[in-house]
Amino acid sequence: MTIERISVLGAGTMGHGIAQVAAQAGFKTTLYDIEHALVDAGLERVTANLDKGIARGKVTEESRAATLANLSGTTDLEAAAATDLIIEAIPERMELKRQVFGELDAAAPAGAIFASNTSSLSIAEIAAATKRPHQVLGMHFFNPVHIMALLEIVVHDDTADATLAAAQDVAGALGKTSIVVRDVPGFATSRLGIVLGLEAIRMVEQEVASAEDIDTAMELGYRHPMGPLRLTDLVGLDVRLGIAEYLHEQLGSEAFRPPELLRRMVDEGKLGKKSGTGFYDWSAD
Ligand code: NAD
Repeated sequence: MTIERISVLGAGTMGHGIAQVAAQAGFKTTLYDIEHALVDAGLERVTANLDKGIARGKVTEESRAATLANLSGTTDLEAAAATDLIIEAIPERMELKRQVFGELDAAAPAGAIFASNTSSLSIAEIAAATKRPHQVLGMHFFNPVHIMALLEIVVHDDTADATLAAAQDVAGALGKTSIVVRDVPGFATSRLGIVLGLEAIRMVEQEVASAEDIDTAMELGYRHPMGPLRLTDLVGLDVRLGIAEYLHEQLGSEAFRPPELLRRMVDEGKLGKKSGTGFYDWSAD
């Protein structure tokens, strides 16, 4: 099917960015959230991103105007459902996602495709809340969406080939490189990224080297743009602990067992950049 209109549910960190890249790529885009103030805040963040892009010479005035003309906001779920592709970016809670997908199923056109931006939850379980599981898949974007090139497409056993093909076409139109991953916990990105982050924390715990030196090892020795501990600080230690606990439980591998140091730092409120301290001091940022 041809996708011309996209709705994004949730105007937060991810949703506003997804709506931006969709509108920038020429899709008629609707950004939905539960309150007007949240929708407006999301739309303002898009405008701010575009203005920053103009200041850096990456966005033209014409593209800014065209993007904003393609973008509208709503708090009416039925209006948001009247579209070709719905990308959900609401909080990471299974029951909430299932409830919203069930409501959408009743309101959206029969051909509409539903995508979840979940970082970890089972796509099959979300899809089972609808009567169209073959039209459901994961479209996992990365933060900040307008800068990060990857789109991880997650297919469950009943995702139709045509649904995958439509999502791959959209990824291309958004200028993203897509990969296709089976619906297993952690997909490809979180599963590998978390192992590296947790092992780096164990190395700090065992005093193998300082946090700075472990990061430098990966940045200069393996050409990672950012070391695993600095990245953990940016993502949030609490967020990483949550993912580690989930993957440890789901996959059973000891590689995902959360290190004691991570638990202790979370208990002490050292959550990384957002709290001012983590493996680094962010108080000046
Ligand atoms: P967020 O908290 O910044 O935004 C979530 C938004 O959803 C909020 O604006 C909230 O008001 C809204 N919302 C709550 N209930 C809703 C409902 N019933 N209907 C519509 N909107 C509702 O969260 P986020 O960081 O943007 O994460 C959203 C999803 O994206 C999660 O599944 C998360 O795991 C995933 N994700 C996050 C990141 C990241 O780096 N933050 C990266 C990849 C994927």
